[in-house]
Amino acid sequence: MTQNMTGKDLTHTELVAENQALRARMAYMLEQAERNHSIMMRHQAFDLEIVGASSFPELIGTIFRTLPIISELDSVTLSLMDEDADIHFVMQKLGVDFNEFPGLLFATDVEQLGFDLGERSAGSAPPKPVLGMYDPARHGAQFPDSTQRLQSIALVPLLRNKRIIGSLNLGSRDPSRFTPSLGTDFVEHMASIIAICLENVISNEMLKYIGLTDSLTGVYNRRYIDRRLLEEISRARRQNYQISFMYIDIDHFKRVNDTVGHQGGDEVLREVANRIKAELRLSDALARFGGEEFVVLLIDADLDAAMFVAERIRAGIEASLIELSHGLKVSITASLGVASLACTVDASPEETALELIAHADEALYQAKEGGRNRVVRYVPQ
Ligand code: GH3
Ligand code: MG
Ligand code: MG
Repeated sequence: MTQNMTGKDLTHTELVAENQALRARMAYMLEQAERNHSIMMRHQAFDLEIVGASSFPELIGTIFRTLPIISELDSVTLSLMDEDADIHFVMQKLGVDFNEFPGLLFATDVEQLGFDLGERSAGSAPPKPVLGMYDPARHGAQFPDSTQRLQSIALVPLLRNKRIIGSLNLGSRDPSRFTPSLGTDFVEHMASIIAICLENVISNEMLKYIGLTDSLTGVYNRRYIDRRLLEEISRARRQNYQISFMYIDIDHFKRVNDTVGHQGGDEVLREVANRIKAELRLSDALARFGGEEFVVLLIDADLDAAMFVAERIRAGIEASLIELSHGLKVSITASLGVASLACTVDASPEETALELIAHADEALYQAKEGGRNRVVRYVPQ
């Protein structure tokens, strides 16, 4: 007779059986350990990848592309808190194509995120992840693709300094994947890294946007146009299409300031920007170049097409009196100079950009000389 570890007397056969059972358990544990190790490695690579993302689309793209694979999930969506739709607005302005990210959702109220918030006060603890069976009535908003036949889900709050900035929503067809009794350390850790990365790229993109726009009118600023012009000149040459440039200067703006004050003048500038914008296509870029001067870059537009748009802008600015907040109404006109880029020139993009601006400026000067409130095209001498 031999005793086993618990001190029980065992026959040889029993010992062999127990030994086999122990070996099987060891093999299972080893397999689990290897599996966990490989999951950890994949997640470490994921963490590194998202930490390295330098733009909002890159970060979101990485999360949606990689997380379902490494975590073996059937659905991953992301809800972002965006009370005043600022994030959505700026990302759209920066050219983010939301159609590329059907799993990216925006919430205007934390209630929409699906957490158990209880009675919330300033010092209350942030919500815990919600794990359990998928309920279309409660979780449908987080998983808009109803064809996925999800069975269990985890809604994980994205927190920054105890503030809820959104939620990471994980869905599985396996009903036992997320159960209320499951530990949440792992998903919370993952969500904390995602939250930091999100906050970083969002503030970077906001700064980028602020650096490229004019704070008074909300249109682009000179820095943006200078950069965009170089890109567009190179592209227009490669793809052989025309671009045109328009210089717009408000007539007698000093007088406007003198009559309605500087603040009234600012309101006029905002309204003029809106009236110009109303005549443009999405691909055109409007910027305030300084003072009461605006420029428009028109993509795939020759001189005739640009003249047509310019005339509409001129008429739109003149069309009706601009009503200011203190009740005064002012009549505004503007002069416009238009020039086009010939695709055959051999100069550098920088030289070409300067030349294009100078040509539009020269045409504008002629419009002023010719009596204002008119459009003049640049004609090479
Ligand atoms: P012209 O028809 O020849 O263009 O006459 P103008 O009075 O518009 O002449 P000019 O372009 O020299 O004057 C521009 C004026 O715009 C001068 C300045 O007081 C005013 N201005 C420049 N920037 C701003 C601004 O940000 N807000 C306001 N309210 N006025 C501005
Ligand atoms: Mg001026
Ligand atoms: Mg002026």
